[in-house]
Amino acid sequence: MGKVKEEIQILIETCERKYEEGGSAAVIEYIEEAIRQGDNPIMLDVRYERCEACDVDMPSINHICLVCGQTTKIIKQQLVDAVIEDLKKGFELGDYTVLDELLNMLPVKKLVQALPEEEWHKYKDINNSYFEVMHQDFNEDAGREEIQIHAGENGNVFLYQDDDKLGFIIDVYGQNDLADSMTVWEEDLNPSEEESNDPRNFSDVEIQEWKEKWGQSHSEITANLGYPRSHAESDELLMDDYFWVEKDKRWYNRCASGFTPREQAIADYLYACSTYQNLNE
Ligand SMILES: [Zn+2]
Repeated sequence: MGKVKEEIQILIETCERKYEEGGSAAVIEYIEEAIRQGDNPIMLDVRYERCEACDVDMPSINHICLVCGQTTKIIKQQLVDAVIEDLKKGFELGDYTVLDELLNMLPVKKLVQALPEEEWHKYKDINNSYFEVMHQDFNEDAGREEIQIHAGENGNVFLYQDDDKLGFIIDVYGQNDLADSMTVWEEDLNPSEEESNDPRNFSDVEIQEWKEKWGQSHSEITANLGYPRSHAESDELLMDDYFWVEKDKRWYNRCASGFTPREQAIADYLYACSTYQNLNE
């Protein structure tokens, strides 16, 4: 065991003894006295932190409560307090840059609310945001990290992650508190169109279905378009918008307003194949 680790262990054991003798008051008294004397450097690592088990801020070391031995955790208030202390030091030197940066990150609404109410009207032109972030970070009540956005008159939007799943859930609460929920997982967010429309992903069935849906025989297509029946006269015209696949004896659309992106990708692929085949025939 290293020297520091050993000293921490000794401190923990001493506090245990103190607790048995006189409860939490005895531990705190011992800690306070040791801090005051200032001759034990390990006391510099003692912090008051929120202990769930004791239900109050307790002296702790390495996030271990020195009163009950349970783990403690840093809460946001401690961070806020630390920032305040640091800001004070800056103010004494006339330095307001950190405060300026922090305030500029706040939404206009929050800044206006920090002023006396009689001054609010002066800022009404800029204080008109539709969205307002009501909460961010971990929500103790909900037991999850979330972002709550108040959306004008239309309700609230919650964004949160579902445990270990990659992605997030959007819950929208309307005025009558009806929730609409949508789940967006990472795999849905990243369909990577080029990849999914890669010809290697087209199944034979899919291509067959596409051909049945879009293919037209020569007599069909010339009749539909009012073109001359003979290949010699109509092929040139047709090739602007269609391609011919010899083995199918069918014309297919090179593009069509009715195509889905997937159908267009299949068309592009088959067109490329037909060009290749025609060149090699
Ligand atoms: Zn405790």
